[in-house]
Amino acid sequence: MKFEDYRIAEGIKRSISKLGFKKPTDIQYKAIPPILKGEDVLAIAQTGTGKTAAFAIPILHVLQERKISKRPDGVKCLVMAPTHELALQIHEMFKTLGKHCKVNSFCIYGGVEQDPQIAQLNKGVDILVATPGRMFDLVNQGVLNLQRVEILVLDEADHMLDLGFIKDIKDLMRHLSKKRQTLFFSATINEKIKKIAYSLVDNAIRIQISPKDPVAKNIEHAVAHIEMDHKRFFLEYLIKDHYEKKILVFVRTKVRAERVKRAMTRVNLEAETIHSNKLQREREEIMQNFRSNKLKVLITTDVSARGIDIPNVEYVINYDLPESSEQYVHRVGRTGRGRTKGQAISFCSSEEMDLLQKIEENLNKPISKIEISKNDYTSTIELTEEKTSNDWQALMLDAENPKKRKRKKHKKK
Ligand code: AMP
Repeated sequence: MKFEDYRIAEGIKRSISKLGFKKPTDIQYKAIPPILKGEDVLAIAQTGTGKTAAFAIPILHVLQERKISKRPDGVKCLVMAPTHELALQIHEMFKTLGKHCKVNSFCIYGGVEQDPQIAQLNKGVDILVATPGRMFDLVNQGVLNLQRVEILVLDEADHMLDLGFIKDIKDLMRHLSKKRQTLFFSATINEKIKKIAYSLVDNAIRIQISPKDPVAKNIEHAVAHIEMDHKRFFLEYLIKDHYEKKILVFVRTKVRAERVKRAMTRVNLEAETIHSNKLQREREEIMQNFRSNKLKVLITTDVSARGIDIPNVEYVINYDLPESSEQYVHRVGRTGRGRTKGQAISFCSSEEMDLLQKIEENLNKPISKIEISKNDYTSTIELTEEKTSNDWQALMLDAENPKKRKRKKHKKK
């Protein structure tokens, strides 16, 4: 089936084709028809599967069909997302797909002034994409009325629950009409999520995308045994070995993010961090540089990177192993977006072996191992140690010829 064959507005088809989407992805194929029919949907799909367009396309069509006047009469569709970055990304998809539509969309999130947001809401917004904090603020101040919401989308609901928004989501229901369509998207499913999902949806169509292997097929992922104190040397090695590639590095905490950045800066490698201690403006600028390829290496914590869609991330590095298989799936899913290929490498130290085992058990299969010979391991560390002990000389050498340091490739089993 092609997008051409769908019964959706021509303007939307034009935008889809402009985005270069030819065929619907699995989730789009399964979700678009029931959403168009007005059914509730409960979908388990990771990011990277095309789930944003899976709800944005039918929502734009349905609202466009229903829109009879240009009069601002309240938000018709509310999309809730756990983070600023994800909210902005969803909004971008609505804007792009809805370029030739009569319906408009807007995005609200915290950390920025609220007055311009209120002004825009007063002018009239059809589709509102929001993070929970700012949205509830505005509802409680009485400047955002959700009574007319006809479609509610909860995206990355599992992450929203992880962040402690469960009570907020329940409270939200008090502000919404019972006669609404609810679309519930989550990357993972467990008893808690099931319970909240069933309390929100009504007779929902259930869709699950590749439950057996939650890591998308176009992502090659592997793990290397690297001790904690040596990780920085291997990250340096990888960055230099993939000179022009876009690399997203995951660490456990903000403090570690800054520490890893300093380690890279010491060896003359440019890297940036995003985490919740950064100002929203700074985060946006860094994300923009990473998106546009100005910045090649971005170091992030889970919270900041959850769900974000950055084109052409070639490598994901789990500098620290994540706490759960769900996080693992989310992290590696930052590469290999849509139909592109991606690679993910995890650094696992002796202390993290238990975590690795737990992740593998939950993925239902072992992650392939990268065998690093003793020689390669020690030479990777020694090369860098040598260099850091003569820092200024090494910097001069690198400045003269950054690609000169030749190294043996590590073999993957
Ligand atoms: P999402 O899962 O919504 O974060 O989407 C992941 C990526 O897939 C985004 O970069 C989309 O632009 C891309 N994408 C979505 N739908 C399609 C499609 N039908 N064909 C190709 N790429 C797509």
